Amino acid sequence: MSTAATSFPERSAAEVADIVLAPEAAAPGALARRARQRRQMYIGQAVSYSLGASVLLLYAYDGAIHINVPSLFWVGGLLIIGIFTVMSEAGVGEKHDDHYLTVFQISAHMALQFIFLVSVPTIGIAFISVLFLIFAFGSLRMTSVQAMLTWAIATVALAGVFLGSDLPIGMPVATRLERIASMLCFVLVIGQCAFLGLFGATLRKILYRRSIELKAAYRRIEELAELDELTGSYNRRCIMRLLDAEIEKSRQAAAPCAVALIDLDWFKRINDAHGHPVGDEVLRTFAITMFANIRPGDRFGRYGGEEFLLLLPGTERDAASRMLDRLRGIVADLDWNAFSPGMRVTISAGVVTLRDNDTADTFLARADSALYSAKAQGRNRIATS
Ligand code: GH3
Ligand code: MG
Ligand code: MG
Repeated sequence: MSTAATSFPERSAAEVADIVLAPEAAAPGALARRARQRRQMYIGQAVSYSLGASVLLLYAYDGAIHINVPSLFWVGGLLIIGIFTVMSEAGVGEKHDDHYLTVFQISAHMALQFIFLVSVPTIGIAFISVLFLIFAFGSLRMTSVQAMLTWAIATVALAGVFLGSDLPIGMPVATRLERIASMLCFVLVIGQCAFLGLFGATLRKILYRRSIELKAAYRRIEELAELDELTGSYNRRCIMRLLDAEIEKSRQAAAPCAVALIDLDWFKRINDAHGHPVGDEVLRTFAITMFANIRPGDRFGRYGGEEFLLLLPGTERDAASRMLDRLRGIVADLDWNAFSPGMRVTISAGVVTLRDNDTADTFLARADSALYSAKAQGRNRIATS
């Protein structure tokens, strides 16, 4: 019935990654949620700089570096975080596709690492290892183009340091404390990278689940757009589309095709005698009865009011007529007393088969005139033409 599964666009992983960064509908709730997410991220970054500065303190305690280095590193990191926090709270990022301003953040943190790498090359590997962490963070939100760009900038900067200078970039391991500090550098970076990786995997899982939910909702919307609210049968727009399709199929396969226009008899009287809500229940029960007694390939829709259209693909006139008469009998034999004592409900139908020169309109017009003669002959009967 629905083609939603195929019409919903499939996307590559890179496209999906870039979609995540597309500007969302900036509803007030969404803006508040995004601001909260950014605050959490800045707290995480502050913790990360504090851990890094603590390791640098060990080097300083051992005399490998000046005591100012850990504090300057910590202050520098917090300064960048502070600037971005202020910008975030002012809503600066909201104007950008990426409200985290990832590229700017990465550039600032990378610049800080390079400043320390050049200033204190003897523990340079510690600052280089932080680059891994910065890129792990960036990979969560960067587009492929941004990732390539920042990688290129990092490459140029590293080339400048390694090839354009003879700075003694290293990692002190002479004393026990230096060895511990150097080990901690790696342990902390690896741990934080793993944490970011896990965070990314969780985000992906959430996105995947949302995309499944979205597909299901999309399918449901498509179904609802095709169904009549009261009876659950196809609505007029849909049954007319299906009629066109069946005519086309029947012509291509040179197969017969029958339709029946079904109308509830004296339905106005039912409404008048028992009330409109009971009339609605009768329509619903009639539709359920039809669904329970037609074939899987048959199509049943509400043509309007208490008139319904039944498409019977591959069915000759006599078989269609017999089938409608059987349905008529089932409806007439239902115990309608449950709705209202003394109630009787019957149907009349006009049954026709497709002719070579028929259009959908002439096909239906013939069904309508057959229905008219069924009514004229006294109702609760099937007429063909
Ligand atoms: P006939 O046997 O000639 O078809 O007589 P009828 O009374 O069924 O035909 P008529 O066209 O005079 O009346 C149809 C009635 O169906 C009038 C309308 O109020 C009622 N009707 C149409 N749609 C609905 C609906 O959704 N719910 C209810 N309860 N009644 C409806
Ligand atoms: Mg009627
Ligand atoms: Mg009618």
